[in-house]
Amino acid sequence: MQTCVDFRKDFPMICDEQIYFDTAATAQKPQVVIDALCDFYSNHYGTVNRGVYKLAREATELYQEARHKVQRFIHAQHPEEIIFTRGTTASLNLLARSYGEAFLRPGDAIIISEIEHHSNIVPWQMMCEERGAVLRIVPVNDAGELIFEEFLDQLDEKVKLVSIAHLSNVFGTLHPVKRIIEEAHKMGAHVCLDGAQAVAHLPVDVQALDVDFYTFSGHKLYGPTGVGVLYGKRELLERMPPVEGGGDMIQHVTLLETTYNRLPAKFEAGTPMIAEVIALGTAIDYLTEIGLSTIASWEQELLAYATKKLSQVEGLRIIGTSSKKGAIISFVIEGTHPLDLATLLDCRGIAIRTGHHCSQPALERFEVKSTARISFGLYNTFEEIDQFVSALHSILNFLV
Ligand code: PMP
Repeated sequence: MQTCVDFRKDFPMICDEQIYFDTAATAQKPQVVIDALCDFYSNHYGTVNRGVYKLAREATELYQEARHKVQRFIHAQHPEEIIFTRGTTASLNLLARSYGEAFLRPGDAIIISEIEHHSNIVPWQMMCEERGAVLRIVPVNDAGELIFEEFLDQLDEKVKLVSIAHLSNVFGTLHPVKRIIEEAHKMGAHVCLDGAQAVAHLPVDVQALDVDFYTFSGHKLYGPTGVGVLYGKRELLERMPPVEGGGDMIQHVTLLETTYNRLPAKFEAGTPMIAEVIALGTAIDYLTEIGLSTIASWEQELLAYATKKLSQVEGLRIIGTSSKKGAIISFVIEGTHPLDLATLLDCRGIAIRTGHHCSQPALERFEVKSTARISFGLYNTFEEIDQFVSALHSILNFLV
């Protein structure tokens, strides 16, 4: 087995006194990413795409180089297919608005699953309402897996777009995205994958998937907050209107009308998150050096070990038991509120997530209001899982 233990020391926030099991919410940062932010502000700071002076030229080069890094990382064909945004939420909102205006007509339909993050529900609800379109929901089975026959049943010529998580943030389910894309394309529909939970945990190749749009956040990719990506196939992005107007996104402005810039500037109005984009590039370099396959197999080992250990805890029910999962485990324990559990674990230096995980319909499907959720990153270890399970046992002795 390839281990990631050697990389633990790269993360200043990761130490023996603190167990961090909430990487699905946000990942801790390696020192190189923190240094990249500091280095840019200390030694290279300037604006991008504007000034002719050396600092502005250098900043522009670093900024555009980061775009190439993202392009290579997700195997996009062209750099201008990478649009920088504030995060997955911003990417999905941009997409919903722009795609909706370009392609959605009254009576059209969009498909999502019933276990999406609110960011992949609400923007589509808003857009469907505005355009008189219909949102269709594909249910999941008791394991938290998409019911594929239901998906096929709902997929007809009215469907313009299928927008679905690559990997579920609540249950860890890895959806059969290749098959979803193939079937959607046969029907003439486009597909967007919400890659917020996938992109740091498995290799992503947008061309091999033939996916039309892909979204993710920098902060879940061991990069900074405040930056994210919308990938879109060039021919589609070219047909879509900009959503925000302002600096950079224009070709020519008069007081009466404006012509828009080419991709990607058309979708990047205003001074962007320059330092964050550059440091996201550094995070990608860091992950590429380790290798996404190495990270994926390490996290799968952690997942299998933790699943086995948790299954032995009396009264504990794991929700989301698909055989194809990312390193996310949601669970409830009979007679215990997840909030009490998380509070008492926190007293022991163990950070886990509780609540609805910004996916209320997903929890409703399983008739719970809240779950406890642990999720792993490349820096977690088997020893931490042992400590967590042992803390869980002693808390349960006290609570139940
Ligand atoms: N989609 C999924 C599947 C997520 O897990 C998250 C973050 N929890 C988001 C979208 C939203 O990401 P952000 O808050 O970074 O915009």
